[in-house]
Amino acid sequence: MEIVRLISCNTAFDANIIKSKLESEDIECFITNENFSTLYPFMTGGIDVMINEKDMDRAKEIISDETSTEIVCPNCASKNVQLGLGNNKIKKLFLILIAVLSFSPVGNIKSRYKCKDCKTLF
Ligand SMILES: [Zn+2]
Repeated sequence: MEIVRLISCNTAFDANIIKSKLESEDIECFITNENFSTLYPFMTGGIDVMINEKDMDRAKEIISDETSTEIVCPNCASKNVQLGLGNNKIKKLFLILIAVLSFSPVGNIKSRYKCKDCKTLF
């Protein structure tokens, strides 16, 4: 049985929300990098939620139920969006810095969504 990464989260908190959501649906999963990311939150690629490959389709449905509600593309107003992985670490660090400087909750930028229609990231 193959273990695959379902999603990479910025914080252990996010990862645990997804983990408990999956477990409530009887999908086995575990979190990697959690300790390392807690010690060095800005130094890692995030916290990965790992699942069995056979559960991938169902798990994606479960987390998209969780994350795509009420999310609309700012560019074309499509509701056909998905949670992006936000791989641009430099930009993310910059946004965190701005958030800290402006006293905005960093939580606002933790997730990025991608429009499946026009490919806009937001
Ligand atoms: Zn769009």
